[in-house]
Amino acid sequence: VERIRLRNPIVEMDGDEMTRILWKMVKDELLFPYLDLTIDYYDLGIEHRDATDDAVTLDAARAVATHKVGVKCATITPNAERVKEYNLKRAYKSPNGTIRGYLDGTVFRTPILVEKIPPAVRSWKKPITIARHAYGDVYRNSEIRVPGPGTAELVFRSSTGATEVRKIADFQGPGILQGIHNTDASIRSFARACFLFALDHGVDVWFATKDTISKTYDGRFKEIFEEEFAAYRERFEEKGIHYFYTLIDDVVARIMKSEGGLLWACKNYDGDVMSDMVASACGSLAMMTSVLISPQGCYVYEAAHGTVQRHYYRYLKGEKTSTNPMALLFAWTGAIRKRGELDDVPDAVRFADTLERAALRTIDDGILTGDLAAISPPFPGKQIVDSDGFLAAIKERLDQAL
Ligand code: NAD
Repeated sequence: VERIRLRNPIVEMDGDEMTRILWKMVKDELLFPYLDLTIDYYDLGIEHRDATDDAVTLDAARAVATHKVGVKCATITPNAERVKEYNLKRAYKSPNGTIRGYLDGTVFRTPILVEKIPPAVRSWKKPITIARHAYGDVYRNSEIRVPGPGTAELVFRSSTGATEVRKIADFQGPGILQGIHNTDASIRSFARACFLFALDHGVDVWFATKDTISKTYDGRFKEIFEEEFAAYRERFEEKGIHYFYTLIDDVVARIMKSEGGLLWACKNYDGDVMSDMVASACGSLAMMTSVLISPQGCYVYEAAHGTVQRHYYRYLKGEKTSTNPMALLFAWTGAIRKRGELDDVPDAVRFADTLERAALRTIDDGILTGDLAAISPPFPGKQIVDSDGFLAAIKERLDQAL
């Protein structure tokens, strides 16, 4: 068969441990035999990040800014243990943090729903996408461990000279302090990214903060979303979709009763926490797709999970593992579909759709990796396979469909 040719490059960011092994298997078995891809390759594996003093991570982010579409494998964010394990020069920052910081995007995470694994929340019929604001708040905080009695103040010194001071607390004894911030520009692009995603996918947007308590900080998020929505209101009406604002505690209660099929826009911390809740209620982290979309229209597709460290150690001992490659595969199909759309290559879009359907059918036919077998109810013909067997079953269904 003739391979489908894409016109422009996809930026590939390789990663670590078990996901690096699966990544190659996915490419060799399910992608390269069918697609003629131009790859702009960056090795974000920990050894190469160390060798380049992490310069490779920023190079990769710049390449995404140029080519618009990237796909990223899971990578180690080193802590003290990892510095020792891999004999690193230092504990580098999270590559995802670096890439997000450079592209200033919003991360959208959507569970992959399959018949054989009903969500733990019975009312959920359609996937809930979480949009996590990827800038600021507690992730760019400044903290002080207060040693003893004293006064804490919040001070802003404007570059025009004016100074504003607010008292935070009078400490009678030791305690803790934290300063956080966000910017109108970042909140605005977050709001826009959410409204655009909703239009693309035909889903409602729910957004929530705690503006009853945090009247200025969270209140500003609410205001900016309302201001930005004005530019989208008409298109939302045409599509029959809605924007809905409420309090974070109210939205959590409502989500548990909803059918799904909506975009839940979350502040940075809420998104961090709630995306794992949604993923776990829908099965496993390996059944969660993730895409970073920047205001300039750059897309980075990845899996929501980490490097699956424990499986890797078993792999190194020569054991076969039943690691789930779904999210890694869907990262690639996401990137290929987007590249196909941007380059106007409908065959590539069709290939991505077909490959995703083949993967979903494999699971619906009862062929499962260990993590899925553990969370699905018993059914006749349930078959647990290792990663090789799982990919081979997908390939079989892909070839039939093609
Ligand atoms: P992890 O996601 O690798 O594993 C968490 C748990 O989920 C483990 O029990 C694992 O067995 C299971 N799991 C995850 N993906 C699976 C899959 N595809 N198939 C079967 N089971 C799966 O997270 P962790 O153990 O906390 O972290 C391991 C490494 O990954 C760390 O070094 C961390 O820095 C890195 N990490 C990277 C990213 C990223 O690059 N986006 C995200 C999270 C963690």
